[in-house]
Amino acid sequence: MFSKILIANRGEIAVRVIKTCRRLGIATVVVYSDADAGSLAVEMADETVHIGASPAAQSYLVADKIIAACKQTGAQAVHPGFGFLSENAGFAQRCADEGIVFIGPNPGAIQAMGDKIESKKFAQASGVSCVPGHIGEIADSAQAVTISEQIGYPVMIKASAGGGGKGIRVAWNRKDVEEGFPAVRAEAKASFGDDRIFIEKFIESPRHIEIQVLGDKHGNVVHLFERECSIQRRNQKVIEEAPSPLLDEATRAAMGAQAVALAKAVNYDSAGTVEFVAGQDKSFFFLEMNTRLQVEHPVTELITGLDLVEQMIRSAYGEKMAFAQKDLKINGWAIESRIYAEDPYRKFLPSIGRLVRYDPPEEGQHEGYKIRNDAGVREGDEISMYYDPMISKLCSWAPTRIAAIDGMGRALEDFHIEGLGQNIPFLAAVMDEDRFRSGNLATSYIKDEFPEGFHGTEATAEQLDILTAVGAAMQRVYAARARSYASGLAGAPREDWVVAIGHAKRRVKIGGEGDIAVELLDEGRTLTLTDIDWRPGKPVFKAVLGGKAFTVQVAPAAEGFDIRHRAAKARVLVLTPRSAELHGKLPEKQAADTSKLVLSPMPGLVVSMDVTAGQQVREGEVVCVLEAMKMQNIIRAERDGVVKAVNAKGGDPVAADEVLVEFA
Ligand code: ADP
Ligand code: ADP
Ligand code: MG
Repeated sequence: MFSKILIANRGEIAVRVIKTCRRLGIATVVVYSDADAGSLAVEMADETVHIGASPAAQSYLVADKIIAACKQTGAQAVHPGFGFLSENAGFAQRCADEGIVFIGPNPGAIQAMGDKIESKKFAQASGVSCVPGHIGEIADSAQAVTISEQIGYPVMIKASAGGGGKGIRVAWNRKDVEEGFPAVRAEAKASFGDDRIFIEKFIESPRHIEIQVLGDKHGNVVHLFERECSIQRRNQKVIEEAPSPLLDEATRAAMGAQAVALAKAVNYDSAGTVEFVAGQDKSFFFLEMNTRLQVEHPVTELITGLDLVEQMIRSAYGEKMAFAQKDLKINGWAIESRIYAEDPYRKFLPSIGRLVRYDPPEEGQHEGYKIRNDAGVREGDEISMYYDPMISKLCSWAPTRIAAIDGMGRALEDFHIEGLGQNIPFLAAVMDEDRFRSGNLATSYIKDEFPEGFHGTEATAEQLDILTAVGAAMQRVYAARARSYASGLAGAPREDWVVAIGHAKRRVKIGGEGDIAVELLDEGRTLTLTDIDWRPGKPVFKAVLGGKAFTVQVAPAAEGFDIRHRAAKARVLVLTPRSAELHGKLPEKQAADTSKLVLSPMPGLVVSMDVTAGQQVREGEVVCVLEAMKMQNIIRAERDGVVKAVNAKGGDPVAADEVLVEFA
């Protein structure tokens, strides 16, 4: 076996690879950029090599530097993780030429499958069912329109070198193609340094189902069943699971057989993924093959018991696969939630900054479910603008799908992050949502279920009880503490309070010391909180109510607390009856009027400003183009009007909510 492996990646995947190497007794070398100098991966590695400035183009993407680091440290092999150089055939070849083993497929397989146009040609020739479309390069917008009209709208414009949902756009008509083609091309050029574009039919509301394959250098290829990744936003996966609730044994076998056939046709000799879009009728079409470890590989590991990184290392070393297809079985159900640094309440804007608090749920066995959390960060670390905004990958496993969903819901409750926007409340909302729970998934799911974006969910009756009880309990603890400080106070603490949540007011009587009893005076019920794990100042409150354990995130606010249980967030006021009466009489605050402003939806760079002062603009017209997180975003006028002032020009960096344009 190898004695030393270099990991040409960063963040959670670098940590993930280190863990397997340690278990196998292999020493690790981690390369790092300026931004990653103090990272967890660097801390965990046996050796480290600094390879340059923070932008990936000056560090993680520079093959020369990786090769030099291997030579300098005597690493015999390179694991590329995903992204960066993982699907770069030139790099894989270069490693081979230098006598370094690339832990991934052979360069020929990457070449054949790593490019969407090439792989589709190959798949077609191997009898794999493909999405109808024009499988070839397209020269300009005019040709793009002609082709789109031949295919029939809607179509998808795609960068051949694309990945991670970048370089993809749906076009519903000619205008969309005329605008979208140059935009995708520019994005492809900026993100992948390759501006070849093709167009295929857009399958409406499909499901994304992919097959994990595994090959060795002795001609063996097996599949490790499917993952369903239909919960996507902007074509980027958010929640994945294995197996898929759609597939039956026959469809699973058919998809698996096509994936294996395609892999065999390119002598595939590592871990890889064959992606399909599937109709609700279980028809399926090949999308692309990812010739690398996939972000969502942990769900497959959880249902098969295999370690995919170990398998990649073994086959790269030349070992023969120790099992055959018939030895593989699906065990239980696994779900992955990608915890992203993005603000779900603000149109999922990327959010960078410091993890002022980072407190993940405990890994391992819980009551009825297992938790795994793949992360590359610690409390105090920074999520920078240079790389993917993923904070961690939280996975749950249980014998059944519903138990895995419920386990995930509990784990999301237990995940506490402060310092930047994060999507945990959104993920929790999905876990509680009927359609998700029923398994009726589609890639349009998020758009269908959250058409106006995400604004949190309305508290259910059960959640109102939790919010009420927690607010009351905290009030009691704070009051007791205040009394102990102010030693002159006599008499028992006040017991009668009003808990106000939005417009709902509940008269309560709060009693108890360790356990806290909250009597709901108008309902004739008592909420009893037991096993309370909280003290003043702690942002996480855990307890049991009605036999059910729960965790909420809490913060003190004027006259009460801000409390969030999953996706239900509320200002919980705990008032004296007199104060409650006055509260009803206060006028509500008006929100500022921003209807005449075009605000920058995210921090970024203005690529072009397309309007000038005095110009008459119609609804839907392009106001400007903004580049952020490597994406070109077209900002459009939300209504007709005359431009009064333009506050930014092409090349300007802008902050979130900065006023770009004012209308008269
Ligand atoms: P897909 O390409 O089908 O969306 P994945 O979601 O597994 O598959 O990966 C998304 C793309 O973005 C891949 O090209 C992957 O290499 C890259 N990527 C995703 N997340 C990260 C990350 N945290 N760090 C580096 N690269 C990433
Ligand atoms: P990437 O390399 O960015 O992962 P993919 O080709 O895998 O690009 O597409 C990403 C996602 O976009 C898919 O998971 C699917 O949801 C959606 N998608 C891609 N092609 C189509 C299509 N032809 N019709 C409908 N949805 C598609
Ligand atoms: Mg894909």
